[in-house]
Amino acid sequence: MRRGMLNARRMRPGRSIVYSGGRVPLFFGGRAPGTAFCNRAPAGRSAAIQKQGEWKVAQLFFKYGAMNSGKSIELLKVANNYEEQNKPVMLFTSGVDDRDGVGWISSRVGLKRKAIPIFDDTDVFDIVRKQTPKPYCVLIDEVQFVKKHHVLQFAKIVDELGIPVMGFGLKNDFRNELFEGSKYMLLYADKIEEMKTICWFCERKATMNLRVDEQGKPVYSGEQIQIGGNDTYYPVCRRCHANPPL
Ligand SMILES: [Zn+2]
Repeated sequence: MRRGMLNARRMRPGRSIVYSGGRVPLFFGGRAPGTAFCNRAPAGRSAAIQKQGEWKVAQLFFKYGAMNSGKSIELLKVANNYEEQNKPVMLFTSGVDDRDGVGWISSRVGLKRKAIPIFDDTDVFDIVRKQTPKPYCVLIDEVQFVKKHHVLQFAKIVDELGIPVMGFGLKNDFRNELFEGSKYMLLYADKIEEMKTICWFCERKATMNLRVDEQGKPVYSGEQIQIGGNDTYYPVCRRCHANPPL
């Protein structure tokens, strides 16, 4: 059923396709179907078609959460859901984080996939524009580390190429300041969603990240991005961020 619809859409790209019935792919753990699925509209027609309510236009998503909230595993799950239906996706990650080698998305449960690293001079829009076949979705891990100009490129991918972009990352650093990538994702995203996890020390929701040095002392100042070193980061609630029971 679904495949038939897909073929019809390819043959007549200007026609609307309404997805209904059948198995609903699990992209957002219970979200309404279609929010991030096959929502590419033909270039230049998105607004008009959206008015008719026939197409769901592509959107820029920001899914943020504290450490260990399952962001990378969620990203890999979304990628897998698309690919199971022969819908190619493109994976990117920050080139800043090289703990597992540059250009890898890895989750704590052991899953790992190659991704295109984003460096300061990487033009993500250009890379996606040149990609054939056109991807159904662009997924970005560690989006907190990207720069403002990258976020503007993500928005351009959504608005000019009609491809949904989903960025996954931390919102706040260990000092409780916004990362640059997160700041601009918050400003530019169409949909913002929190991925929840529990505080390392109590049972409240973790909304912050606590940095602890080798001596077991909390750290509240210093460089925002410190890759390597032996400091440990914990997902914590606001109370435990201020007074960790260490
Ligand atoms: Zn707590």
